Amino acid sequence: MLSYDAIVVGLGAHGSAAAAALARRGQRVLGLERFGRGEGRGSSGGWTRMIRLSHFEHPWLVPMAAAAWDRWRALEAETNQTILTETGGLYAGPADSTIVTGATQGAVAHDLAYEILNAREIRERWPVLELADDVVGVLEAKAGALRADRGNAGHLAVAERGGAIFRYDARVVDWRPAAGGGFEVETADGTVVGAEHLVLTTGPWIAEFVPDLGLPLAVEREVPMWFRPSVDPASVGADRLPIWVVRDGPTMFYGIPYDPELGLKVSIHHWGTFVEPDVVDRVVGDRDTERVRAFLRQRMPTANGPLVHAEVCLYANTPDGTFVIDRHPVGPGVAFASACSGHGYKFAPVIGEILADLALDGTTDWPIEPFRVARFRESIPG
Ligand SMILES: Cc1cc2nc3c(=O)[nH]c(=O)nc-3n(C[C@H](O)[C@H](O)[C@H](O)COP(=O)(O)OP(=O)(O)OC[C@H]3O[C@@H](n4cnc5c(N)ncnc54)[C@H](O)[C@@H]3O)c2cc1C
Repeated sequence: MLSYDAIVVGLGAHGSAAAAALARRGQRVLGLERFGRGEGRGSSGGWTRMIRLSHFEHPWLVPMAAAAWDRWRALEAETNQTILTETGGLYAGPADSTIVTGATQGAVAHDLAYEILNAREIRERWPVLELADDVVGVLEAKAGALRADRGNAGHLAVAERGGAIFRYDARVVDWRPAAGGGFEVETADGTVVGAEHLVLTTGPWIAEFVPDLGLPLAVEREVPMWFRPSVDPASVGADRLPIWVVRDGPTMFYGIPYDPELGLKVSIHHWGTFVEPDVVDRVVGDRDTERVRAFLRQRMPTANGPLVHAEVCLYANTPDGTFVIDRHPVGPGVAFASACSGHGYKFAPVIGEILADLALDGTTDWPIEPFRVARFRESIPG
């Protein structure tokens, strides 16, 4: 019994974007989410995300980031809200660090506007950043902050306008090919629904949804934090401070300018604590805050004010730091993704389209070879 054209399992960043893409193509969509609407207990909680075009980790992702930028702007117009605030982006570290060389490489290769600054110039422009003397900064013009809560809600709203139905507190426990064609999806309360196409976007839980593929994902506990700076907050607002990523010693810190509603975001990229997604300590303690406080004391002393909010969020990391986006070998009709590794949010509108392509047509025009599961089998003997 095929009740729907497509079922999307997991409604975080990429599931909500896939639901929107499928609904835009006239599909009757059912979305199933284990937790509440917008609850964000996977990878998409915590209100804000950076969008950087030069993408120092993987400069070849620049075209996809640029396409996503345009799609976020289109989603803003479609849903009548501000999602993306353009701030520029500063990526700073030792001259030979990937953060500097990768950002420069991406900017040069794709003709992005950027300038190189030394530590003195960085301090002159943004006195709140008292970075080490040997630091070099790449300042990219086109970067900014995304409101992830609004982005996800916007995609869900677009899907609902196209007729999608969403069920929350609906934990999916199994999916399988159906006898008469298509697929069946079973939730924890025993309900079984059918559809011709299936999109699996369960984020940090994706490995258990495709156990036969043996995805080598490592789930990492992260703790984004927001502070009330001791300087005038307006001096570190979005019109005065760029989003920034700084390599300081072995650690990469990042931040998003002060938002009167949220505070000044300062956190660590890759905390290094690996967890099972269902067994995560969600309480933020002194051990968490002290790592960021030490950086604030030394490098941003005028921002080192009261902690406004902190929460736990999960990275799903691949060994090569990119994403998993593929169709399932069980047959045509099933697409799945874990597009995180700590930098996948910005791509959500594009990834939603790719997932819709793969689920409906089995193929996509986007160059997804670097995201396919086969690469793990090629690089990991046996
Ligand atoms: C702290 C932090 C900072 C980040 N910063 C950035 C950034 O600045 N820029 C950037 O581009 N990216 C960033 N990222 C990465 C980005 O947020 C992720 O790439 C993105 O959120 C992944 O979304 P997702 O849809 O794959 O996963 P999720 O958001 O985790 O969605 C998966 C959904 O599936 C649901 N689910 C799981 N199991 C089931 C089930 N059995 N049944 C039904 N539903 C289920 C979950 O409840 C969840 O809602 C950051 C991530 C974190 C954690």
